[in-house]
Formats: sequence, structure tokens, C-alpha cells
Amino acid sequence: MKKNKKITEISELGEFKFIEKITNSFEIKKSETIMGIGDDSAVLNFNSNDVIISNDILIEGIHFDLTYNPLKHLGYKAVIVNLSDIYAMNAQPSHIILSIGLSNRFSVEAIQELYDGVLQACKNYSVDLVGGDTSSSKKGLIISVTAIGSTKRKKITYRNNAKPNDLIVVSGDLGGAYMGLQILEREKSVFIVNPNSKPDLSNYSYSIQRFLKPEARKDIIKLLDELNIFPTSMIDISDGLSSDLIHIAKNSKAGFNLFEDKIPIDEEVKRISEEFKINSTTAALNGGEDYELLFTINQKDYEKIKKIKDLSIIGHITKSRDRYLINKIGQKIELNSQGWDTFK
Ligand code: ADP
Ligand code: MG
Repeated sequence: MKKNKKITEISELGEFKFIEKITNSFEIKKSETIMGIGDDSAVLNFNSNDVIISNDILIEGIHFDLTYNPLKHLGYKAVIVNLSDIYAMNAQPSHIILSIGLSNRFSVEAIQELYDGVLQACKNYSVDLVGGDTSSSKKGLIISVTAIGSTKRKKITYRNNAKPNDLIVVSGDLGGAYMGLQILEREKSVFIVNPNSKPDLSNYSYSIQRFLKPEARKDIIKLLDELNIFPTSMIDISDGLSSDLIHIAKNSKAGFNLFEDKIPIDEEVKRISEEFKINSTTAALNGGEDYELLFTINQKDYEKIKKIKDLSIIGHITKSRDRYLINKIGQKIELNSQGWDTFK
């Protein structure tokens, strides 16, 4: 950190001036916003659309580690993970409410950094920040984000409507965020032993970015709309392919055949997996935090999506409730959810 960086204690400003300072660069852009920040509640109007709401809480030491999560990226990610939940319903996010709990070790400038990331995400995804709450916390940083979106009722995709023979499709590639986290954890332990170490992380940049600054798949929702495809079910991959596909199967009272050789994994991720002696399929299945979209479509839509590079068909839904991974040599392996579980 630069020595001459200005540090202002939050108590110097007081709560109201502080809120004003961190929120004043946010502009209202959405037509649905009747009242944003500044009153007891926000007021939104969605006409005849259904309103989709989701919330996530991020707690220092549980969900993030400030030794390697820059505050600006953290602000960005806190918004993205919530927008991803709205996209996973096949809806468009339009508003967020963001609340923070702060211990006194955070300065005004530090929280400004966090909000710079929030602002960037609001701009990139075209959502209005319309409220929040600010509190002190005894220890650490807490960020809670509520995302609000809307869509026509007939477009909403739940987890419970996948049908036998539907194709299982995933966007992008998997396992990157997990391997990025492994790199950051390794560098952290090197740094603890030798604080002067200056690691060259250029060989790992894709995976680290997947972990620190993920994106939500707004583009995929747009594409599905343009192709006139209504997924029968959809979920975003936050816990890992295995766990999230099992959610779809369980809720839909069905099973699946998932083909290992179809799971999309980036070359860098494969290389890092070798370095860590982790099977890259395991990273993709159980890693989590990739925020890709996992969905099922009727077979009649196959022709429409087969040429789309960023979508991979990785298996199909079965009537039998068995959940199989078919490995690279054709063996059927029963799949259990071993995705990230915060209570384990
Ligand atoms: P109240 O006492 O009614 O909870 P506050 O003083 O907490 O009101 O908040 C005043 C306004 O500022 C409200 O519109 C609230 O939504 C907004 N606000 C408060 N904290 C934040 C924050 N951290 N981020 C964004 N908006 C906030
Ligand atoms: Mg309040």
C-alpha cells in the first residue's frame, strides 16, 4: 500500500455523510425505479411482469479472505453472484440492495474501493442500486446483496421441470475458479513465510480472474431468447457441477447420464490441476464458484445450439433416478454431491 494514501476513519464522517459519499456516484437508470436511495424504502414498478428476488450474504473469513481478495473485486463479485441467481431464473436483473457491516479497521477509502467495484458491476449489467443498510460489526466485513429482476411468467425457469431425454447443457468452462483459489491459497502461505516474495502469477491469470472477478452469464440469457429456446430447468453453478446438477435431478424427480469427456475445462485449468495433482474433472465437478449456467433443453432444440461454441452438451436426463458420470473409458460411476457445503 502506498504510504501517502489518505485514510479517513468512518467516524470522522458520521453515518449519513458516509452513506452519501459511497453512494453518490450511482445514478438511477432503470425505468422501473420510482424511488431509489434516500427514503425509508425503495419503490419499483414492474407492470405486468413477475418480480424475481434473491439474496446472498458474504462474510469475511467464510466467503472471502482480504489477504488476496482486493476490495474492488470483492464489491464486483458480491453483485455478480446475486445477478447470476436472477439470470438462472431466465430473468433480467434490474436492481440491487446492498448492506454492509464494518469493523473499525475499515477506512472510508477502503469502502469506497468496495463501492467502486459495485458501481462497475451496476454499469456493466445495467442495474440500479436502490438502497441498503450500514452497520458497524465487531469483527470483519459483512456484505449482503439482494438482487431484484423481472420477466414474463411463462419464461421463468425453475429447477424442477427437467424431463427424461432432455439434453443437459452448460455454458463456458468449469473448475477455473477452484483452481484460481488453490493458487491464491498457495501464494498466501508462501507470503506468510516470506513477505518479500513477489510471485509471477501470469501463468495462472485466467483461473485467478475466474475466482476473484467472475462474470454472470447475461449473454447466455440473451442468446436463449434470440434462439427462442425455453430451457426446461436452469441453475447457476455456484456449488459445483455435481451438486448443482443433482439439485436439478432431485427437484425434477429424475436422474442423468453425465459424460466426463464432454465437461468443458480450459487448458490452463488442466495444467494447474496437474501441478496440484488434482483430477481436473474433480475440480469441475466439485469446485464451484464458476457462475456458469447449467440448464436442460428439449431434444428438438439440439440443432439450434449444437454449433454454439460457448455451450456444451454434457449429458441427458433419464427417467431412472440414477445419477451417473460416464468416465473417459465408458465406466458408469454413481455421482454424489460433494460440492461446496458451507457447514462442512
Ligand atoms: P433507515 O434509518 O430508514 O434504515 P438509513 O439511514 O439506513 O435509513 O438509509 C438511508 C438511505 O440510504 C436509504 O435509502 C437506504 O436504503 C440507503 N442506504 C443506507 N446504507 C446504504 C448502503 N450501504 N448502500 C446503499 N444504500 C444505503
Ligand atoms: Mg438503515
